Amino acid sequence: MKICTIIGARPQFIKAAVVSRAISEVEGLTEVLIHTGQHFDANMSDVFFTELDIPVPDYNLKIGGGTHGENTGRMIESIEKVLIDEKPDHVLVYGDTDSTLAGALAAAKLHIPIAHVEAGLRSFNRKMPEEINRVLTDHAASLLFAPTETAVENLVNEGIAADKISQVGDVMFDATLYYGEKTRRPQLSDIRDEFIMCTIHRAENTNDQQKLRAIISALNEISETTQIVLPLHPRTAGIIKAMGDVKLGDSIKVIDPVGFLEMHWLLQNCLMVMTDSGGVQKEAFFHKKPCVTLRDETEWVELVHSGVNRLAAPGRVDIPDVVAGMAKLKISPALNLYGDGNAGKKIVKIIKDKVI
Ligand code: UDP
Repeated sequence: MKICTIIGARPQFIKAAVVSRAISEVEGLTEVLIHTGQHFDANMSDVFFTELDIPVPDYNLKIGGGTHGENTGRMIESIEKVLIDEKPDHVLVYGDTDSTLAGALAAAKLHIPIAHVEAGLRSFNRKMPEEINRVLTDHAASLLFAPTETAVENLVNEGIAADKISQVGDVMFDATLYYGEKTRRPQLSDIRDEFIMCTIHRAENTNDQQKLRAIISALNEISETTQIVLPLHPRTAGIIKAMGDVKLGDSIKVIDPVGFLEMHWLLQNCLMVMTDSGGVQKEAFFHKKPCVTLRDETEWVELVHSGVNRLAAPGRVDIPDVVAGMAKLKISPALNLYGDGNAGKKIVKIIKDKVI
């Protein structure tokens, strides 16, 4: 039985590392891996394949760098060709990127059943490209793997049949447990004992100069007292450079994006996290670090409800004040929100039972 997996962006490599390993452990299942090329830099793509032992993709479509429409259109066309050749029993897609939607649309038109990992996440903000991608993918999918109870409720509220939905936990929790003992300190001389870990990449922040300026001003203020380590996403780096008149302060340790193992060393050793990333919000929690999310809303509402994450809407609240309020929070090691670390195995079992 053949599963065609479609990935293209950094968080998808990490999620696929978990599920692809689980697929390889089950007799009778084969996986064909399609990399759309959405993320192509060595430190946004190759490093994850090497570090996380993800199989070399069977197809690399090399589609990236265009607008959402260009990328999605070109991906659909190329994925369709591969699916016609490979004739998989299931197409497996992850998360909420253009690669996710393109894979889902190509498969749906060929009547190939779609399995969606990380189904049911909602920000209820339709201006986010990710929200459109995930809503449409969920409605095209026949197997929806929801990480949380809230995600299940969101799907049911949209009229998706309950028998298509499985609450399996979060594959990123599986990844954190699996790779947690293999983390590696980045080769950087001047990381202080106490630092805040920060990432910024989300289009709603980087494409809105007012928000980006508010974030940078907050980071500069906070870094006067506590070092901030900032592995800078290429999109954010490019936009800051193009703006020309904003400067990240000297106490912000700006570095290139790091691999997963170094990223998790930083998460294990930081004081707290500031981020607009979906994945990093959860990983902060997995490492029991308080998190301030630099957004107006989050899909991962259980983090906010349980008090381990606070939203700080850029330009609308005093970010340094929110950070100061979260810095000393102690998170109970017993608090568990994302399953038992076996989401990958559960997903593969359910797909196999449906396919065979
Ligand atoms: N990540 C990484 N190196 C970095 C920044 C992030 O390995 O320099 C990992 C992070 O640990 C998480 C994933 O990338 O597993 C999150 O991806 P991203 O923030 O790009 O996307 P999102 O989760 O917001 O969709």
